[in-house]
Amino acid sequence: MKKEQTSKFIKVRCPKCKNEQIIFGKPASSVKCLICSKELVESTGGKGKIKARVLEVLD
Ligand SMILES: [Zn+2]
Repeated sequence: MKKEQTSKFIKVRCPKCKNEQIIFGKPASSVKCLICSKELVESTGGKGKIKARVLEVLD
């Protein structure tokens, strides 16, 4: 069976410093803001829980 490709990149805005950053939607580990180090995505067993505002989903 062919594996479904659901992985996407998303553009988010940091709620703390308003930095816009493109991140992987399902990261293996948590993703932090490059500017202020606020956690933008919390990794919860393979599924990323997005804690920032999603501006755009990129294919
Ligand atoms: Zn930030």
